[in-house]
This record gives sequence, C-alpha cells and structure tokens, in this order.
Amino acid sequence: SKRYPLRASSTMEKSPTSSIRQDEVFDRTYDNCIVGSGLSGSTIAQQYAALNQTCLVIEKRSHIGGNCYDYIDDETTIRVSLYGAHLFHTNSERVWEYVHRFGEWVNYEHRVLGKVEGKYVPIPVNIDTVNALFDLNIQNEEEMNEWLAKEQVKFSDSNGNVREAQNSEEVALARVGPRLYELIFHPYTLKQWDKEPSDLGPEVLSRIPVRNNRDGRYFSDNYQALPKEGYTSIIQNMLDSPLITVVTDTDYFRVKDRIRCRRLYYTGPIDAYFNHLGWPKLEYRSLSFERAVQHNTQYFQPAAVVNHPQRRDHESGQEVDYTRIVEYKHFLNQTSDHTVYFIERSTDEGEPYYPVPNAKNKELYKRYQEMARKEEGVRFVGRLANYKYFNMDEAILNALEVVDEDTGRIEKDVNR
Ligand code: UDP
Repeated sequence: SKRYPLRASSTMEKSPTSSIRQDEVFDRTYDNCIVGSGLSGSTIAQQYAALNQTCLVIEKRSHIGGNCYDYIDDETTIRVSLYGAHLFHTNSERVWEYVHRFGEWVNYEHRVLGKVEGKYVPIPVNIDTVNALFDLNIQNEEEMNEWLAKEQVKFSDSNGNVREAQNSEEVALARVGPRLYELIFHPYTLKQWDKEPSDLGPEVLSRIPVRNNRDGRYFSDNYQALPKEGYTSIIQNMLDSPLITVVTDTDYFRVKDRIRCRRLYYTGPIDAYFNHLGWPKLEYRSLSFERAVQHNTQYFQPAAVVNHPQRRDHESGQEVDYTRIVEYKHFLNQTSDHTVYFIERSTDEGEPYYPVPNAKNKELYKRYQEMARKEEGVRFVGRLANYKYFNMDEAILNALEVVDEDTGRIEKDVNR
C-alpha cells in the first residue's frame, strides 16, 4: 500500500504502470501476456518476473486484484471488499509461505452465524446449532454422533450397498438429515443458485461440513489469516516488478491483435475466449451488494457474516431475498465510530462469480476444454477459465503449478 491509494473513490486506483503510454505498452514484445490481474494472473506474473521474464498483465477493470479487490470505505474508514468477503485459509505450506512474501498476515478464524427461526446459530452445524434449534442439551461428541445418526439419510445402490451422495441435496441429507436441510441448506441454496440442490453437483454443499463438537469456526484449515493491509496491497506487491507491466481499463479482446508475447495466460471466462461459439450459455452466478451505514454504532450484527438461509423473517413474516450480510468492521477488529454492512443477493446477470456445477454446464465446459487444449501457446488458468470454484489458496497453488509445469522446474527450485 505504498504508492497505491487504497480507496475506491471516484477515480479508483491508478494502475502501477499508468506512467507508460498505451502505444508504448503495445510496442514491446513480452515473454508472457497475462489476461486478468486476480490471484491467478498475479501469481503467474510474479513467478515469471522472478524468473527474469517480462510480463504484460491486461486488466479489463479499473483496478487490479480481481474479486479480491478491497479498499477503505470513505465514510467509515473501514476496509471493505468490492466483491464480497474473502477469507483466506489453507493447508498448503507452499501457499502459506508464498503469500507471506507480499505482506503481513494476521491470524483470523472466521465464524459465521445463521439467523434461523429468529435465533443466531453457528454455521457449519455443530452441537450448539442443534441444541439451540431443537431445544436439546447435547453435551459431547458421543451424544452428537448419536443424534446425527438418527437424522442422517443413508443412500444405497440397487445391491443395497451404501453409496456416495450424487447431488447437493443428497450430500446435505447424508450429513445433517432432512430437518436441518430444510432449515439451513435447502432455502439458502435456492436463493443462492436459483436451482434445487438436487440439480447441483455434490461439490456445492460438500463445502460445508458438519461438526460433532462445539467448534464454531467456518473453516478447519491449519492456516487462517487476513492480510493486515488488505488483499489489494498483497496483489500490488506481487505485481511490483520492473519486469511486469500492468494495463487496467483494457479489454483483452480489443487489443489482442496488437499485443506481442511468446505465451499467453488467460484467466477470464473460457466461453468468452472462444466468443461463445453459438453454443448454449455457460452459466455463472453473480452477486449484488447493497451498502448500508449505521452512524455512531459499534456493530450492526453479532458476527462479520450472518447468513439468512430462510425465505421469510421469523418475526415479521416479511420476505428475506438476501443470502447474507457482511459487516467488515468485525474483520481484524477495525475501529470506527460508525459501521458499514453489505446485504448480499445472488443474481443471474452480472460479473461472473460462481460456475454453476450441473450436468449441462459440466458437459458444455468439457467441449470448451477440448477447444482450449488445441489452442497453441495459450494456457487457461483460474476459476473462470477452468470453470471451477477455486478457493483463494487453490487459485494460487494452481497458478504456481502451472508455472512449475510450463518451466519444467521442480519443487525444490521454487523458493524465488
Ligand atoms: N450454504 C447453505 N446454507 C448456508 C451456507 C451455505 O445452504 O448457511 C450452501 C449454499 O448452497 C452455498 C454453499 O453452501 O452456495 C457454499 O457455501 P459457502 O459459504 O462456501 O459459499 P461462498 O462463501 O463461497 O459463497
């Protein structure tokens, strides 16, 4: 955050290379062109710069960082994210070591509460969730296992053998049974995806575990932290090299005939790369955020993230069309006289956030993947190009491994 004002005021950020004239940028030949400056693209650029190769990073938006982009909210001076809360967690030593090269991280264990039947309960489901919702007094893991065993649905194949859950409805029923499924997972998933969980692959609801103890953390990874100065600063530092040129406000498809590079790394939506080919639409879910401020208020809600799985408010009966509310002041215990929060809704149209994992989209993606394989000198990297929901650490690890592969280097050489 040195020469980079971390504010999303009227002008947004200036690109680190804004001093270079556009025509100059396109006069040069680069070792690598990278489309997109999110975690995937920035990791690729950083890695090649460390190998002494030149990189041109082409970013469509007016800022770097992709959906990790954060900034200081002018009115409250609280650091917030433009595209929703981002919680870093990993079990990968390699990724943990890597992210520490670009700034300070503060250990932070994320906790989420769900507002269910008018009560705030821990999510993922644990002993406290069940006790609160069903007025029970479960005391230990053994009792919780017993309770869960009675709730859980077992699926068996035609030979009567237990089989794996095949869609997200089955995942939830196998983990928590029908009662918690109807209270927490079914209605939330309908709001978030506008699809029945039975029409979504198992990977969607597999993200949320069930706990037989009182662990109220959202993630159970060994490493959980937030960047002290925000994600934008981390990504800024990744891209901070004389060998890396970043152009923002630049649509790759408008300049692709003008750029010169030996290799291309594309991190945008795979269907956009091939100009959709007249095929059916590859679906993505998007999010919208409604900002609200409360003056002279310590906190609006009891946790950084409160999920609202249910369709109607327990007390008023009014419709609740949002999925969750994020109050950023809770992250790293920020201080302000005021508080700002963002009401999150899921939408069909808009910036692509989530690939929609159903049979139709997976099939369609495979056809694009075939095309991608034949595309010489181009690598498709990251969540949008792989049509796969990557957590932040997975995006970084995947990008590091792409560079491993493309440079033929082995793990012991990677500490640069
Ligand atoms: N989910 C749910 N109820 C919740 C939280 C999550 O049904 O209270 C489901 C929902 O389908 C969601 C998925 O679990 O899309 C993954 O949740 P996660 O919090 O990982 O979503 P993300 O933060 O990545 O949007």
